[in-house]
Amino acid sequence: MSSSLHRGIGMTSLRTRERLIQRLRDEGIGNQAVLEAIRNTPRHIFVDEALASRAYEDTALPIGQGQTISQPFIVARMTELLLEAGPLETVLEIGTGSGYQTAILSKLVKRVYSVERIKSLQLQARKRFQELHVRNIRLHHRDGGMGLPEYAPFDGILVTAAPEGIPRALVDQLRVGGCMILPIGNRSEQVLVRVTRTRAGYEKELLEQVVFVPLLGGTL
Ligand code: SAH
Repeated sequence: MSSSLHRGIGMTSLRTRERLIQRLRDEGIGNQAVLEAIRNTPRHIFVDEALASRAYEDTALPIGQGQTISQPFIVARMTELLLEAGPLETVLEIGTGSGYQTAILSKLVKRVYSVERIKSLQLQARKRFQELHVRNIRLHHRDGGMGLPEYAPFDGILVTAAPEGIPRALVDQLRVGGCMILPIGNRSEQVLVRVTRTRAGYEKELLEQVVFVPLLGGTL
């Protein structure tokens, strides 16, 4: 095992993780498979060493480049919402960031495609997946607003940065019956939305208020 897997070993104690799982339960996360995936994914690997001691707090943390690793509660909530549609084979994630949400998804679906616009974040995430021996994740460096048409249709899409409206290109890459979970809104106010692709177009359902970094254009 590489030494980086051992770092912060004190923080990874089962008790510390168990407290997070209990908190997520108390906050209303009911999907057992999602809770198991969170229990078995070392979140401290996905943040800077200096922040490892806070990795099992239910809070978003900075990951550099002005971006954040999402709060465990929102990761759990979005994953649970995505899985409500039934078993999923292929999922597209927009905004790899640290790779934490990607890693959780990889335990619950057959294959995850994840797109990130900032190359340095993508490279760090790739290293983490190698360390953890995760093999069902495919990473792409590009502007995710256009999705990944060459691999469409997807059973589900999860967007972890907020566009101002529903990106039509992404809806078009969902299979009929598939759903997309995404935050929409501006920098100060966003709402989590579930979009379900129908034969005629799509249906949308507004869920709770959330805070995400904005979905930006172009690549870095
Ligand atoms: N799921 C990530 C969340 C990271 S924050 C995690 O838990 O770590 C959102 C990420 O979306 C950032 O890394 C940001 O660079 C990325 N992002 C923003 N706009 C994007 C776009 N148009 N295409 C791809 N990624 C984008």
